[in-house]
This record gives sequence, structure tokens and C-alpha cells, in this order.
Amino acid sequence: PAPSNLLEVRDLHTRYGRVEALSGVSLHVPQGHIVSVIGANGAGKTTLMNSIMGLLPSQGEIFYGGESIQGVPLEARVARGMCLVPERRDLFASMTVQDNLTLGAYSRRRDHWKKELDDIYARFPRLQERRTQLAGTLSGGEQQMLAIGRALMSKPKLLLLDEPSLGLAPLIVRDILNIVRHLRSEGVTVLLVEQNARASLAISDEAYVLETGEVKMSGPAAELARNPELTASYLGG
Ligand code: ATP
Repeated sequence: PAPSNLLEVRDLHTRYGRVEALSGVSLHVPQGHIVSVIGANGAGKTTLMNSIMGLLPSQGEIFYGGESIQGVPLEARVARGMCLVPERRDLFASMTVQDNLTLGAYSRRRDHWKKELDDIYARFPRLQERRTQLAGTLSGGEQQMLAIGRALMSKPKLLLLDEPSLGLAPLIVRDILNIVRHLRSEGVTVLLVEQNARASLAISDEAYVLETGEVKMSGPAAELARNPELTASYLGG
């Protein structure tokens, strides 16, 4: 049987004043899948993530684990296992790697996060080597690992990743996307927003193409990767 949807969005509308940034977006994210949203600059990808997380008010329906979460405050969404890694990563540049990580566990009890910290270091040995270094001195790829590591401290069920490859060299992008793929194998469900269409389709189960606030195309990622229309506009011919 098809896996059930951990997240389902129906007819979502988000406005900035008079500007409508999302005009009726619907999508579903099956449990245990990686679903990517691809689209150009300004298509509304960040707006979509922020609306799903509850950082922006929106109209329409958002179901998480089968329950409506419209109107549920951010902290309650985090407590239920939703976690956003924002595009700008939002690290504390003048704090150490380890302090950034332990802040990610603010909603969990101290005796629990010790173990999570060990898990993160086992997963990202690089962060352990640099645990006393200030976050602002890390490379772009290391900062993205730290942002993902911090998110994992809250033991998310649904990880929302906003352009994790932004500004990173191709080899580092591959590392980051391998981490995402590994998370799926551990049961984390991922909604991934990317401008890097080819790389994100390669690791995704399903994908949505967003254009000026609307879903233009959607389907299994492998099919979209072969779609001539998409190939021309997003995959460089
Ligand atoms: P990017 O890849 O550049 O982040 P995006 O696909 O994430 O692009 P959004 O940032 O969601 O797109 O922007 C969608 C639309 O909403 C754009 O037209 C943008 O100009 C507009 N917009 C975004 N943030 C605001 C804001 N704070 N106030 C007004 N308009 C905004």
C-alpha cells in the first residue's frame, strides 16, 4: 500500500500585503519520502516553507500527521516533530559549534540531548573536530552541516530544508544531498526546496515545480527528470 502522507497542503494562499506570493498551492509529502520543490528565484519556495512552518500567516489547509495544524503555534509544530532549516541557516556566528547544536535541543531535556549531541558528532565528525570553533569561521558546507545538525537535535519527523545547496561548490552539494538521503534511510521525511533541480530530483521520490506561486508540474522525481519541458527550463537542456 502507498505510504500515508505525513504532510498535506491544500490550496494554500500567502500574501505580502497586496502581493500574492502563493496562489493555491497543494502538495503532499508521503511518510518516509524526500519530496522536492523546485523553481526559479522568486517562485515562492521560501514563502511556502515559512507558511508550512507557521512563520507566515496563510490561508488554506495544512495537515500534519493527518491533523490540521493551521493556527497551531510554531513551538507546538516543533514539538510535534516539524523542523525548518532556513535558507540563511540562521546560525549564531559568534557562538561555538557545540553551543549552536545544544541550542537546537532547547525543547528537549538535558539528559536526553547529551546522547543526541554524540549522535550528531558521530554523523558529522567534522563538527566534532570543530566543536569549540566559532560557527562564523566555518566554511559554507560546514555551516550547512551545522544547520542540519542543529535541526536534528530536535529529533524531527519532518525536516523542511530551504535551499541547503545555496552558495556551495558542486562537490559539497553532493555531500549535503547524501546526508539528506541518509536521513531518509533513517525514517526522516524531507521536504526539500531547491533551485538546483537536477541534483535534488536525483535524490527525491516526488517533486513539484513551482512558478510564480503556483504548481506547474508534479510527479515522481524520475519522471520529471526526463520531462522535456522541464529539461529545457530547469535542467539546462
Ligand atoms: P528565492 O530562491 O529567491 O528565495 P523563492 O522561490 O524562495 O525565491 P520567495 O522568497 O518565496 O521566492 O518570494 C516569492 C515572491 O514573494 C517574490 O515575488 C518576492 O518578491 C515576494 N516576497 C518575498 N518576501 C517578501 C516580503 N517580505 N515582502 C514582500 N514581498 C515578498
